[in-house]
Amino acid sequence: MKTEVKVSTKQKRISNILEETGRLIIAGPCSAESQEQVIETAKALAADGRVHYLRAGIWKPRTMPGSFEGVGTLGFKWLKMAKTITGLPIATEVGSERHVYEALKHGVDMLWIGARTVSNPFTIQEIADAIRGVDIPIMVKNPLSPDINLWEGAINRFARAGVSQLGAVHRGFTLSGKSILRNNPSWNIPQLLRERMPDIPIICDPSHIAGKTNLVQPIAQRAINMGLNGLMVEVHPNPQQALSDAAQQLTPLSFTTMLNRIIGEVELTNTDELLSELRLEIDLIDDELIRAIANRMNLVKHIAEAKKLSNTDIIQPSRWDSIVQRIGQLASEQGLRPSFIRKLFNSIHKESCNFQHEQILQSAVK
Ligand code: PEP
Ligand code: MN
Repeated sequence: MKTEVKVSTKQKRISNILEETGRLIIAGPCSAESQEQVIETAKALAADGRVHYLRAGIWKPRTMPGSFEGVGTLGFKWLKMAKTITGLPIATEVGSERHVYEALKHGVDMLWIGARTVSNPFTIQEIADAIRGVDIPIMVKNPLSPDINLWEGAINRFARAGVSQLGAVHRGFTLSGKSILRNNPSWNIPQLLRERMPDIPIICDPSHIAGKTNLVQPIAQRAINMGLNGLMVEVHPNPQQALSDAAQQLTPLSFTTMLNRIIGEVELTNTDELLSELRLEIDLIDDELIRAIANRMNLVKHIAEAKKLSNTDIIQPSRWDSIVQRIGQLASEQGLRPSFIRKLFNSIHKESCNFQHEQILQSAVK
């Protein structure tokens, strides 16, 4: 089959893409693995018509040694071919000064900085210095830990190096406990970044938050509903065979179906599918509820110690009255029945008091 060659002569600026389409969409495999894999993915994504950049990792920062660490510079040849065939500009991750020089030498159109790299200001400064004076868009992922200052600081280092096309990628934060998700979204953090840096577009990488293909769509949906400015999604022609992140990559077909649903406003008519989608979203919210209650109980442990030290009674009626008043108000603002929230909090409060009694008794026995 003869393939049409569409080479883009001048690349659009990120701000123009956002103005024209309302969102920035980056998609492609976690890692470039072979010429066939890169080209097959690029063709399918170009056929979708809504993708602005083809992503593929050339060097993979892996938590565990011995995992697939990327094909290295050989992969640029495949990315360039994909660009020539489809016209899609190409994006890759850089984690050092050398990566920047290699990527620029091979004509990469966008660079992203991975979560592990963003956690290290020395490396960020080194990369920012290497990029100084080059007009290339840079997407900065959030660091592994939920530290907004590290994220903001990294973006500022690039801004100070004169990078004029900057964006942020929300990919979730390392979890301390068990969850159905791979990384904790902590949605309040991208919201806070938006308040601190209103001119920086923030897109969501639902693949690394979800960790599993069936959870990618509800996360992407939530990001779009929250008003984030686009998506970076991992797409692989044969996810089960992927050399990295096999569990979370979508096939090109499921990627297109997902975009139709979340940005194309195609209603689901199959009620079984609709039901299972809604159930997934409920599971994600239950996950957040359990985490929030566990965090609350952890604080209660410290409160028990403080009350013991200061000889304060466990039950303080005035404090409880003010909690009841506050949550009642919040509940009605959110359209929830105050009587239901009151019952729920009575039960949480009872558990918290029992827990404090146990804590105090235990420390008295010691
Ligand atoms: C990736 O995009 O494949 C990647 C390694 O992402 P992160 O830095 O978010 O883990
Ligand atoms: Mn990945």
